[in-house]
Amino acid sequence: RIVLGIESSCDETAAALVTSERTILAQRIASQDEVHRPYGGVVPEIAARAHAERLAPMIEATLADAGMTLDDVDAIAATAGPGLIGGVMVGLVTAKALAMAADKPLIAVNHLEGHALSPRLADAELEYPYLLLLVSGGHCQILLVEGVGEFRRLATTIDDALGEAFDKSAKVLGLGYPGGPALERLASQGDAKKVPLPRPLMGSAEPHFSFAGLKSAVLRAKQNMPLPVQGCVAGSVIPSAYTDADIAASFQQAAIDCLIDRTRKALKGVGHVNALVVAGGVAANTAIRGALESLAAEFDLPFIAPPLALCTDNAAMIAWAGIERFERGQSDPLDVSARPRWPLDPDAEAVRGAGV
Ligand code: ATP
Ligand code: MG
Ligand code: FE
Repeated sequence: RIVLGIESSCDETAAALVTSERTILAQRIASQDEVHRPYGGVVPEIAARAHAERLAPMIEATLADAGMTLDDVDAIAATAGPGLIGGVMVGLVTAKALAMAADKPLIAVNHLEGHALSPRLADAELEYPYLLLLVSGGHCQILLVEGVGEFRRLATTIDDALGEAFDKSAKVLGLGYPGGPALERLASQGDAKKVPLPRPLMGSAEPHFSFAGLKSAVLRAKQNMPLPVQGCVAGSVIPSAYTDADIAASFQQAAIDCLIDRTRKALKGVGHVNALVVAGGVAANTAIRGALESLAAEFDLPFIAPPLALCTDNAAMIAWAGIERFERGQSDPLDVSARPRWPLDPDAEAVRGAGV
């Protein structure tokens, strides 16, 4: 089986061809970082336009890379939400047109299910059920993954997503957009003990996350940073008590402490799982991966994280989610709707009005 996957829910335009044997035959990805950098974040209208310009030629090129035509494809899978609705519409409408023209089944994929199942594309041994920490630009959740479309959400953030906290803290430190990877690089040069920062909800009886207070504390730490002062002696400088790198390192450590505390709580309560798994853009963070690996060892569980390129948005994970559904006989009608909001666990109530 071969599935064409299409991703356009945020600021990556991507297409991929993946087989049920877990081979990525071809994949292309165009980031819009340059397009949005002047604005310091993703501008939805501009993103939708960029997807519309890039997607069709990208699909052609991806097929050409694999030496294939649409006739060789068994199904077409596209992200149908959640995400920025303009971009999602571009991808889904393109997939519908291709499905209609080539008479192939259409599979509407939940972007979060793409992230959630991506570890199974990377690792053939990973069996359901597993405990998943899903950390991305828009989400921070702990999920029990029991099967395709079978998710039980055990925890979510009551305010900001972790990726958002990384991006906003990076902005405060003048690291530009997107900030997560840059903040990680800076943190590696800093001292995580230099700046005392809060660990919201750590130790709390409820299972959820909170990062808004941590983000604000980063802003205060930056604003109150003692400036290097020119001394009386020519050329002598009294160094500040901490540097930007120290703030970055302290932020990252506070975030890790929260993640580990909350995930440990979930592992204690969850019952049997086959592995501790992390996915989503923030799962590309090496320090976070390392801390989770140690946590998994505490529970004698394998730790599984997809390769870095499968953590941030890509179309291979969408094609793979499509394959998992297709192999179970599922597809969607051509009038399926795009959904800007689409929780993985339909029973999960929004927590204190926070997003899904
Ligand atoms: P969602 O999947 O929730 O809809 P999204 O698709 O925008 O959101 P992803 O592409 O999954 O998000 O992840 C992007 C996020 O990952 C950004 O917030 C980015 O800063 C963060 N990120 C990427 N690499 C790293 C890293 N090395 N360390 C920390 N954060 C990172
Ligand atoms: Mg992006
Ligand atoms: Fe994503």
